[in-house]
Amino acid sequence: MRTHEIHLTARPQGAPTTADFALVTSELPELREGQVLVRNTWMSVDPYMRGRMDDAPSYIPPFRLGAAMDGSAVGEVVASRSADVPVGATVAHFRGWREHAIVDAAAATVVDTALAPAEAYLGALGTTGLTAYAALTQVAPVRQGDVVFVSAAAGAVGSIAGQLARKLGASRVIGSAGGPAKAERLVADFGYDAAIDYRAGSVAKQLAEAAGEGVDVYVDNVGGDHLEAAIGALRPFGRIAMVGAISTYDAVGPTPGPTNLFRLAAANGTLRGMLINDYLHLFPEWIGRAAGWLADGSLHTELTVAEGLEKAPGAFLSMMRGANVGKMLVKL
Ligand code: NAP
Repeated sequence: MRTHEIHLTARPQGAPTTADFALVTSELPELREGQVLVRNTWMSVDPYMRGRMDDAPSYIPPFRLGAAMDGSAVGEVVASRSADVPVGATVAHFRGWREHAIVDAAAATVVDTALAPAEAYLGALGTTGLTAYAALTQVAPVRQGDVVFVSAAAGAVGSIAGQLARKLGASRVIGSAGGPAKAERLVADFGYDAAIDYRAGSVAKQLAEAAGEGVDVYVDNVGGDHLEAAIGALRPFGRIAMVGAISTYDAVGPTPGPTNLFRLAAANGTLRGMLINDYLHLFPEWIGRAAGWLADGSLHTELTVAEGLEKAPGAFLSMMRGANVGKMLVKL
């Protein structure tokens, strides 16, 4: 059976371009015992994939040149040689960037589409939502009355983090995003009390205006000037979850750290990194809570959708440049 997949064809220097990817026709091998054939219906494009385009050691191997890329996807099982995962099941798995995936049944998670549509398991009910939950409950826990700051606040993790911070007891939630339209949406649609448009001027200055008495918790998705501004604004015993540093992902050399790191000592502050892979045990707890909030409408989520596998590289690139509100997905 013939199918299509996306290959990485070159390792980008700086920002990738569509020339670094190719749509390739391939032949599917026979299904072996214990495997299922999945027709992918949705796939995720995520910032961490930029790191996998470099040939550098990390917590996850680099993409191989000239081979199908991978990542989170959901789809429908169309053939099965496993008693555990029947034909017709909707599964989440890690063989995205292709139309059809042969997956070991043990590596496919059957998802409940009665609870939420399949694509939600790549967003709010997937590692995206779980990242916001782990950041705000485990890594930089929110306490009653806290002032919380979130960067990339209109994105997938950020748009959930702001709302979750409020549910966990924050008294004031401030978000940062690029451009006036997104900044407006933070307040209008994602429940933020105040918004910073980081493209309009100094983050530190705007944060000082939005959070006059400082911040207790910062969810850092961006790094760079945002992290420095948050350290500068940290209240005593404040907590920062280092979730991502997207402002540095296309850098070709080392990027400078915050110049005010020692302020953490004076503030008794905590700066703690996190990798979502080490919080997957929280999935049942998170899905239990989030599915209820999605159902009662108190957790607002959005998708930005590109249609067609051939659009996946462009969707990835435009997400890195901020074209998405909420989670960027590709519908196959
Ligand atoms: P996302 O926020 O939906 O999309 C990325 C966003 O980053 C863009 O929409 C853009 O929004 C913003 N951005 C791009 N360049 C920027 C820059 N130079 N300065 C400020 N903002 C910039 O992506 P996501 O999946 O939710 O991921 C958000 C962050 O969390 C990323 O850093 C990612 O690596 C990290 N993450 C970490 C884990 C973990 O396990 N640690 C798990 C998931 C995600 P604007 O239009 O506002 O610029």
